[in-house]
Order: sequence, then C-alpha cells, then structure tokens
Amino acid sequence: MPDWDVVIGMEIHVQPRTRTKMFCGCAVGQLGDPPNSNVCEVCLGLPGVLPVINKAAVEACLKTALALNCEIPVHTKFDRKNYMYPDLPKGYQISQYDLPMSINGHLEVDGRRVRIRRVHLEEDTGKLIHAGDKLHKAWESFVDLNRAGVPLMEIVSEPDIRSADEARDYAQALRTLLRTIGASEAEMEKGQLRCEPNISIRRYETDDLGVKTELKNINSFRALHRAIEFEVKRQIEVIEAGGTVVQETRGWSESEQRTFSQRSKEFAEDYRYFPEPDLPPLQLDRAWIEDLGRGLPELPASRRARLLSEYGLPASDAALIAADRELADLFEAAAKASKNFKATANWVIGEVAPSGKHPSPAHLAEVVTLVGTGRITRDQGREVLAETLNGGAAPSEIIARRGLAQVSDPSAVRAVVVAVIAANPRAVDDYKAGKKQALGALMAEVRKQAPEADPKAASTILQELLA
Ligand SMILES: [Zn+2]
Repeated sequence: MPDWDVVIGMEIHVQPRTRTKMFCGCAVGQLGDPPNSNVCEVCLGLPGVLPVINKAAVEACLKTALALNCEIPVHTKFDRKNYMYPDLPKGYQISQYDLPMSINGHLEVDGRRVRIRRVHLEEDTGKLIHAGDKLHKAWESFVDLNRAGVPLMEIVSEPDIRSADEARDYAQALRTLLRTIGASEAEMEKGQLRCEPNISIRRYETDDLGVKTELKNINSFRALHRAIEFEVKRQIEVIEAGGTVVQETRGWSESEQRTFSQRSKEFAEDYRYFPEPDLPPLQLDRAWIEDLGRGLPELPASRRARLLSEYGLPASDAALIAADRELADLFEAAAKASKNFKATANWVIGEVAPSGKHPSPAHLAEVVTLVGTGRITRDQGREVLAETLNGGAAPSEIIARRGLAQVSDPSAVRAVVVAVIAANPRAVDDYKAGKKQALGALMAEVRKQAPEADPKAASTILQELLA
C-alpha cells in the first residue's frame, strides 16, 4: 500500500491479578462459574450501598504504570461514566476521566518506541446472553453479572503504531511485561486482555489525520492482526472509490473474517462524566510508589539484552526465553551450573517450554552435561528429562536405575567389535575390497549387539581393527 500511511492507537483492557472485585468483596471468580454466583449488593448496583477501592488493583495498576515509565500524579480520582445498558444495572460505570492514575509513559518494542498516554483503573460490566429461535419469534435474553465490577486496567497508547505487525508485537510485548511484573496473568482466551485498536489512514506526505474507526474487544493476537489488515484495506477502498470513512465503532467477525459496523462513535461529552461522589479522591503515598518501583523485577527488554550479552545467545533464543520470567530464571540457573549456554538454551526452548513443566535447574544442568559429554544420547536425555519432570528423581539416579549410560569403556566396546568382525567375514571382505557401505552394516551389527555402547568410540575401534 505505497500511497497510504497507516496510523494506529491501541486501548488495551487488562484484568489485574486480584482475588476480589474492584469495589466489593466478591471473588473475581473463574470462567464457567454458575451465572450470578459472584455478586453482592454493591456490584448488583442496589440502592444504599457504598463502594470500597481494592488496594491490590491500585497496586497492580501502579506497578504497570512504573514498568511503562509513566508519571504518577499525586492526585487521582474515580469518575462516573453514565450510560444505560442491561449489562450495567447501576446505569454508570466507575472509571477515571481527567485525573487518571498515570500518564506519559512508553514501551520499547523491537527498538521502536510506543508512547503510552495513560493507564487507569475501572470496572468491567456484566455479560448478556441471547437465546431463542427465529421460527417461533421467541427471544430471551439473560444477564450474568459475575464480571460486573471485576477490576480492569485500561492502557491507552498514542497513535504510534504503523501496521498490523507492529500492533501485534506491541500487544505481545505488553502481555510479556504484565506477566513478568505479576500485574496480570493476561490470558486472552479468558478475556483477561482485550485489544481495541483505532485505525485511520492518510496519504503519504500529508499531516492531516484521517477519520478513525475503533475495533472492539479483540481477544487473540491473530484476530488483532487480521482485523487491522482488513480494516486498513476497507478504508482504502472506501476512499479510493470517492467515499468517506465514518467515525464509528466496529466489531470483528471471526467466522466471516471481516469487520462490521456496530454503532456510531460516541464522544466523552455523551457520558456526562462527573467525580464519583461515593469515593474519596486518592492521594497516593510517594513512599509506597517508590517501594513498588524498587520491588519490580528485571523487565523483559533488559533481560533479553542481558541474555544476548552475558550468554551469547542468538537473538531469537533470547527473545523466546526472556518472554517468560520463570523460563528465563530456569535458563540462567541451569546455564550457570552446566557452563554450556547454547545447549542449555536449546533444551529450555525445545524440551522444557513445550512440556509446560519445569525441572529444577540442577536436574536440567545435569541432563545438558550428560548429553554434552556423550554419557547418554540425546534421545536418552529426552527420556531422562521427561522422567525427571514426572517423578522428580535426579537424572543420575534414573540413568543408574534404567542402565541407560553408554558404555564408553574401550575394552568392553572393543570386545563387542571383535566379536562382530569375527561373525561377519563377508562384510569385512567387502569393506577391504573398497565397498565403504559395508562399514555401515558392521556398525549396525555393533549397535544391535550393544545398544548401550558409545557409537563414536565403537566406530573408531572398528575402523582401527579393519585398517
Ligand atoms: Zn460484589
């Protein structure tokens, strides 16, 4: 699309890691809990009740803001965003309007900087479920308020993203960051991280921003990428056909792989925001914020750089390992013990990560060393690692118990080779007559007779005896 410049900003809603809801003591619960089982007077919006701010949610939001290099103003407050919808029995959502908890941050993604406008806290709404059949014109709608009042952080970027690829990379980097600092589990399939990109296009070399459309509630990286690509193409077609893009909110249909119009864009003034009268403004304690900052672990970008410089890993390995804090901790401890950095990275990426279970660093280092020094084969190493993961026994114990160790005792191997040569005179003659492939047949015989023999040692002895 050489004539067009793509401009994307992102709003990402993230559920912080808390036990209870934003303003009441109800459990945040699990996907699949019976409908309306995690509700109380406060999150049902009954009259005469008062909300109480969840400190754990504020803490998660502040940690996120610090990790995103945001400024944290001293004064912040909650506001009412007024609108009516059946999934919102209160008739308003408690959010933050003009004094958000943090502003002006940034996140580096692959060397590009995406500025963060704000990170603020709000509450989620309930869920509507529609059922019925067209034929009998019998429609029913149900509301499940388990999610009403679940805390949400809204992370708003500036329009610094230029393509579907960059949007996906940004969202992935943000998820890694949130998991690393423990602010959220950020599992998209559980609705804990939802992306809302706003997209516009403009002709190259013009300063005017085009009219933007906003895509709602996208809950996979794949859908995010496809939805943006579709929307950019659609906007170009509209303008090139002489039309104009309408500012609106659009949804993404996974089954049809297209965006569709949902409603015309509403503006802030439509919501009649005003300060939430049931909650006091917050004055954040500077000492607490400094403590939270000091308590942050090493962030993914810095760890990736260190894996490159300290361990000499290839960039792709460093990125994969740094994306998961526990995996990176395991890698570093095991690499230090085994002293074999690249092999440890290979085992972590190839075997440990896909298994979803973590061995102790000492056990992993032992497997890396046993395979690296030829005591056991790579396949045996895989089996030993799998058994370590299941039962927790040390690799050396497993090898001793199962008699897995390769025989590299030269006299024992030599005895087998001598026996094989004696039993296969024809192959020996073929080899001496110049048929090199006869050596393979003899080696196969050695492996059959003594599968535990170190193949490298056996091959050396065989060639020595045939010379
Ligand atoms: Zn409640």
